[in-house]
Amino acid sequence: MTQKKRILTGDTPTGKLHLGHYVGSVENRLALQDEYECYFIIANKHAFTTRADRPDDIRTSVLDLATDYLACGIDPNKSSIFVQSEVPAIDELTFFFSMLLPFNRVMRNPTLKDEIRDKGLGDNYPFGFPLYAVGQTADILAFRPELVPVGEDQLPHLELTREVARRFNQMYCGVDPQTEDKDYIKAGGILPIIQPKLGRVHRLVGTGGPGPDGNLLKMSKSLNNAIFLSDDADTVQKKVMGMYTDPKRIRATDPGTTENNPLWIFHETFNPDKQWVEEMKEAYRQGKVGDVACKRKLVEVLNSLIDPIRTRRREYEKRPDDVIDALRLGTQKANRIAEETLAMVKKAMKQDYFSRVLSLS
Ligand code: ATP
Ligand code: MG
Repeated sequence: MTQKKRILTGDTPTGKLHLGHYVGSVENRLALQDEYECYFIIANKHAFTTRADRPDDIRTSVLDLATDYLACGIDPNKSSIFVQSEVPAIDELTFFFSMLLPFNRVMRNPTLKDEIRDKGLGDNYPFGFPLYAVGQTADILAFRPELVPVGEDQLPHLELTREVARRFNQMYCGVDPQTEDKDYIKAGGILPIIQPKLGRVHRLVGTGGPGPDGNLLKMSKSLNNAIFLSDDADTVQKKVMGMYTDPKRIRATDPGTTENNPLWIFHETFNPDKQWVEEMKEAYRQGKVGDVACKRKLVEVLNSLIDPIRTRRREYEKRPDDVIDALRLGTQKANRIAEETLAMVKKAMKQDYFSRVLSLS
């Protein structure tokens, strides 16, 4: 039997899953869960970077995300959904990997800079905030995955992960720096140079308009601009009817701009009736159709996507023990592979003085 290749990806428990997660990453997870051995991390420690004072919220969100995954169709018997803080090997790897990245290299990471700006963190972030970028390299490499399905904002983090793996393999496994990324394991390395896998939409915008730099903000749990997969039909309607569109358009007869307009970005992303979208975009540009009519149509489209997820979610909400069981099973499987990686890493680093046995029950 050939071993399936592995996938690692996940989410920070700072809220629930939204439409951006769905098109950015969840669709790929669903499409690939048969072909690959999948590990989905709920990165609860990373949530403490911005909300250390809100442990109850983080706890609620861990359970919400797990429920969202199951409601979307992630099958806990095929894929491992796990809680980061219950996989200690990840922390041990974080410490070792932090020595392989220059401090200034981490601080130059554009995703950290964007988060500091968009979440208004100023100079007031904890030491652990930049550390999470290093920790994420360990979240990923602990599973030695081939693919990492993510949204575009994660690419700089994945580049750090690739750098850590190259440096580790060169420093501790004698891999020649000229080696091509795809050949690192063949050349004696133990950590693969992972590949990002972007979703159908690399960066879905939010419902709320532009940020401080004038560009539309990405849909984000923390920015109050998200439509959640668990929102009820009325909430979806309210959010869509209030969404940002073309600010220069006052009346339905004014010509409208469809570019950089969330209303049309959403129709293009979610409306299966491509002909309707093209015809109505043209009508909108010519001032022949109003925002309200196009928003109403979008409400229909989004509710028909979210409805089945909502229904399955309600079922899981009645069975919270099943959600915990899925997490327990997934975390057990995650520990097995992460411990294996840690043992390989320590051996390569000559820090394997005796074998250790952790209880994995
Ligand atoms: P936070 O606001 O707390 O950072 P988030 O909404 O950005 O939350 P994350 O948990 O940081 O969500 O991201 C989980 C995954 O979903 C990542 O792979 C990320 O790239 C992807 N993702 C998040 N938002 C979007 C989006 N708007 N479009 C596409 N992919 C997204
Ligand atoms: Mg994020």
